[in-house]
Amino acid sequence: MPLYEYRCELCDTRFELRRQLSESGEPATCPNGHPRARRLLSVFATAAKAGVGAGAAPVMAGGGGGGGCCGGGCGCG
Ligand SMILES: [Zn+2]
Repeated sequence: MPLYEYRCELCDTRFELRRQLSESGEPATCPNGHPRARRLLSVFATAAKAGVGAGAAPVMAGGGGGGGCCGGGCGCG
């Protein structure tokens, strides 16, 4: 069961709660008894979603030598 982070609108308490995905959007009750806690967007959940299929490291541009700038169009050579 996924772990979600909530913050109470009344007392500003942040807490974590395990819930079903279908229940994650519903208001939760904070440790102080306020039924007004709303779910925060979890950094971990976001990273897990973004990580799917993202195995390749980004290719850094530049480095000199093989740049596309000096192909004749910009007159830098
Ligand atoms: Zn509260």
